[in-house]
Amino acid sequence: MNLIAQPEQVLSSVFGYPAFRHNQQAIIEQLLQGKDAVVLMPTGGGKSLCYQVPALCLPGVAIVVSPLIALMKDQVNALQLSGVAAAFVNSTQSAQEQAQIFQQLQQQQIKLLYVSPERLMGEDGYLMKVLSQIPISLFAIDEAHCISAWGHDFRPEYRTLQQLKKLFPTTPVIALTATADAITRKDIILQLGLTDYTLFENSFNRPNIRYTVKPKSAIKTQLVAFLQQQEEESGIIYCLSRNSTEQLAAELCDIGIPAAAYHAGLDKNIRDERQDKFLRDEIKVMVATIAFGMGIHKSNVRFVVHADLPKNIEGYYQETGRAGRDGLPAEALLFYGGGDVMKLKNFAQIENNPEQTAILLKKLNQMVQFCETTACRRKFLLQYFGETAPGYCGNCDNCLQQREMKEYTVPAQKVLSTVYRLQESFGSNYVIDILRGSQQEKIKPTHRQLSVYGIGKEIAKPEWQYIIQQLVQWGYLQSAGNPYPILQLNEKSKAVLFQGEAVYLPAPLQETKVYEPVIYQSLAYEKDLLAELKQIRNRLARQENVPPYLIFSDSTLLDLCTYLPITREDISKIAGFGTFKTEKYGSHFLHPIQDYCISNRLATRINQLPERKIKRNPIPVISAAPKSDTRKVSFELYKEGLSLEEIAERRHLSIATIEQHFCDFVSRQLIPIQQLVAETKQQQIRTAANQVGRLRLKAIKDALPDNISYGEIKLTLAAFPN
Ligand code: ADP
Ligand code: ZN
Repeated sequence: MNLIAQPEQVLSSVFGYPAFRHNQQAIIEQLLQGKDAVVLMPTGGGKSLCYQVPALCLPGVAIVVSPLIALMKDQVNALQLSGVAAAFVNSTQSAQEQAQIFQQLQQQQIKLLYVSPERLMGEDGYLMKVLSQIPISLFAIDEAHCISAWGHDFRPEYRTLQQLKKLFPTTPVIALTATADAITRKDIILQLGLTDYTLFENSFNRPNIRYTVKPKSAIKTQLVAFLQQQEEESGIIYCLSRNSTEQLAAELCDIGIPAAAYHAGLDKNIRDERQDKFLRDEIKVMVATIAFGMGIHKSNVRFVVHADLPKNIEGYYQETGRAGRDGLPAEALLFYGGGDVMKLKNFAQIENNPEQTAILLKKLNQMVQFCETTACRRKFLLQYFGETAPGYCGNCDNCLQQREMKEYTVPAQKVLSTVYRLQESFGSNYVIDILRGSQQEKIKPTHRQLSVYGIGKEIAKPEWQYIIQQLVQWGYLQSAGNPYPILQLNEKSKAVLFQGEAVYLPAPLQETKVYEPVIYQSLAYEKDLLAELKQIRNRLARQENVPPYLIFSDSTLLDLCTYLPITREDISKIAGFGTFKTEKYGSHFLHPIQDYCISNRLATRINQLPERKIKRNPIPVISAAPKSDTRKVSFELYKEGLSLEEIAERRHLSIATIEQHFCDFVSRQLIPIQQLVAETKQQQIRTAANQVGRLRLKAIKDALPDNISYGEIKLTLAAFPN
């Protein structure tokens, strides 16, 4: 396959990153060799680059199938900000807008086209017709689990993609998802008809997320204490009910935290507006039901709090996964209280469907186990998803705080003998009722006669629950049966009951008052400067009408405030500054950094950039839309002596298109600018551009004499990128 650019070059000059992550490189190679790939990578793992890079290395247009309009828009915005010719077609556009995109497609001016499956395969078939006439580099199927009825988010319209391989048997297909169990995965491959494919599987671990579970007592106070440590960062608080989202959001607003509620009961307009404000950092805290989050690609969500217990581990993992996409430290905090368990148990009762009920209860039970575990939470999660993991992660509450062990021999003996007297036929609630000598009617008269009846009155019910859970967890007791597990004895319980073995269990969690701030803690960075750069980012974002995180991620800003680049060359070394962004935004950030360094007597620290952050292929310029054969034709004609206008006429293309080709040629120094624009005009144009700003084409034109054309301006700017 003829490549028009190398993957490393694209990574460094378009995206501004020093190195590929995980197995991005292998995946990209696979596509460049014309083969298919199935990619399982966690949220924030970097799936997009797996198809965006090859799309820019291969001739033709890449078609990206995506389920949500918001996601498409986000991705296309991000690409355009890096100077990539990307577009989407969807139902929100007018016929005219769509027609324009079709025309650009036909003229091969688009490198990545985002589209919904129904728009791609269905309706009038017009798009398919256009695509059959132009070279296609690859098909990327994002959120590929949507094609499978086994997945959690089946979308029937994805099924039409079964046709793809039949219609385009030789075009590589890449299917990507962050959630796929073994059955769903197999189904994706089957439905898409992939044969010559490789499966690329990554660990689902999210090392930058810190998992913490706290006992729920006075939730409002606890939340406020937590939020006050978060220093204006953004985050999501998940609640079970719509009402509580509204209440909590209002209370947070009252104490000056910019929060809003989000749930499915709100008007769509309101929901969209709030979501938009959240993306734009205007609302810092979204208090939401689980209706919020699907399709949120905001990379700087710093924390996800569960104010109520999630229904299952899958949901919990997905929701917490929305934090820290940018790879910086992020918090996942869950408030756990027994009341929630009872509530959710009731919700899990599906009338006339004992099987479904049993599944839901089992999942809830696993969620409870996660909260109760005194071992590493990350290990628990990874094991749940079928991965092996070491017993210590160093970044969850249990690993971070060595829990004190306390002797529980006597209470343990009481529990175990009660289980024994009840002939191992009852669950923990009944066992506790007996221990506490409950007067309830459900207690059988024979049980009231037992010697153990009422021997545990001195301990409250929640504490007994804790003790029993810990006994189970530490292997002193067994819990079996579904949906109503009963407690049974084992060898270890007998040792306690009959051989006097002492029992030590972790002391219950104490509500610790102090939350250590984890954000950026390991880096020495200039805090005041960061605040200033965020303001600049906000301003640029407003100008471009995109969310701030698309201009630069938090991690890029943090690097700026750590390594203090003060020249253009310095700043191009920072991850996130590709050629186009350096060009466009470099000076906006350089000047304040320079000023800051001067007023604080600081020198640049760019030489301290660690090895892993150094870009290896800093090549000068890559054109936004990589050159395709159509440019070659224009170039040949130019060499034959035709003028720009003559070439346009000969090729039945617009002058603007040929101008674009020529901009590419001059920027790559294939044609000297002197041959196209007179020296004096060049001078005038450069002066005007410096005065009014390089990006404001119209203002530049207005500042110049009429005999200087837009074309001449564009060519001159392309020739002199600085
Ligand atoms: P996913 O789609 O898997 O959730 P994204 O593709 O949105 O993840 O990537 C998450 C973040 O990581 C983005 O900000 C992206 O630019 C960044 N990223 C991806 N690959 C790299 C890389 N090789 N080096 C640095 N940053 C990367
Ligand atoms: Zn851990």
